[in-house]
Amino acid sequence: MSETVLDKFLRYVVIDTQSKEDSESYPSTAKQFDLLNLLVKELKDLGVPKVSIDEFGYVMATIPSNVPGNVPPVGFIAHVDTSPEVSGAGVKPQIVTNYHGGDLVLSGDPTVIIRESENPALQTARGKMIVTSDGTTLLGADDKAGLAIIMTAVQTMIGNPKIAHGDIKIGFTPDEEVGAGTKFFDIKKFGALFAYTIDGDTPGELNKETFSADSCLITVHGRDIHPGSAKDIMINSVRVISDIISRLPKNMAPETTEGYEPYIHPYVLEGGVGKSTVKILFRDFKTAGLGALKTIVEKAVAEVQSMYPKAKIELQITEQYRNMRDRLEKDTRVIDYLFEATKRSGLQPEWTPIRGGTDGSRLTENGLPTPNIFTGGANYHSRTEWVNVWGMEKAVETVLNLAQVWVEKSR
Ligand SMILES: [Zn+2]
Repeated sequence: MSETVLDKFLRYVVIDTQSKEDSESYPSTAKQFDLLNLLVKELKDLGVPKVSIDEFGYVMATIPSNVPGNVPPVGFIAHVDTSPEVSGAGVKPQIVTNYHGGDLVLSGDPTVIIRESENPALQTARGKMIVTSDGTTLLGADDKAGLAIIMTAVQTMIGNPKIAHGDIKIGFTPDEEVGAGTKFFDIKKFGALFAYTIDGDTPGELNKETFSADSCLITVHGRDIHPGSAKDIMINSVRVISDIISRLPKNMAPETTEGYEPYIHPYVLEGGVGKSTVKILFRDFKTAGLGALKTIVEKAVAEVQSMYPKAKIELQITEQYRNMRDRLEKDTRVIDYLFEATKRSGLQPEWTPIRGGTDGSRLTENGLPTPNIFTGGANYHSRTEWVNVWGMEKAVETVLNLAQVWVEKSR
């Protein structure tokens, strides 16, 4: 009997592939190769003829077309790494075979509870199998669900020659969670004209737009001296930086906004008297809106600078990624066919804006249109992460339907 998407998923989640911010190497952690190399082996074992892995860890493979004519090569992409925010070492997946509703208390740490009230997606998971962690780690459905979905679709395609498809390109990438998933991704070598990341969440939800994103680093240089003789000499950068942070609008935070609303999000604070830094995320669906966010922060900095004229405050902005919607709508086949394929899987497809980015944001910007497909997962980057197994199965179906829709529409 062939393996199920759940079998594959459970094998991948126990492999620690956590990526790391500010790493000197690429991929940011060598352990990501453990899973990347396994995927190479599994693709070869399934009989995929062309499989490669490069020095950066990118796994690429091609399943050659089994139909005549010119069907555009279509790619499916997922990332192997898990978030640096929560440990992914020693994941112990817990299977709830038939979810009856209600809160789920996780066995490894009873303070970690998946609450029905905080998880609208649990409604559609009633009567279905779900998988959680034991509460001491994240689960890693982001994005090992994507890997398992693609590998199951590959297995099904190869085992069923009746499933018509053009050239299918498979891509597995490292370092998505640290914003570097496509840094060395060779689009030409990949060879797809259109692609899909399998890195979304709720079954039926599809994504063609993401935030436009910049990051901002504020560095405050103060002056350190023994507190006993500090009068009129010490400049405490801790006080300076907290005054800046307290000026950031609280109604423009991730925790107070939703839908299309932009936000400013201070997320890493480090420092001492002599020097402090804060990392801030700027997010807006309209790229032009990022300028307004920058202005708000600049104004806060200017106000605080005038309070502490001797402190040196630096502000540095780095571009991260851009909303992919405009480019995806230039050739709507890539999104129209996805919508159709999802419907054929018996789901009610819905386009929802991602309050985040995907590897597809960059790939689309670099010329490979890449919307995003659901996985069935939820609560990413946290110990309450869980996945709906039925959702993963529906995603496999959607991938297979999608390959066939591309064939039909290209005739
Ligand atoms: Zn992801």
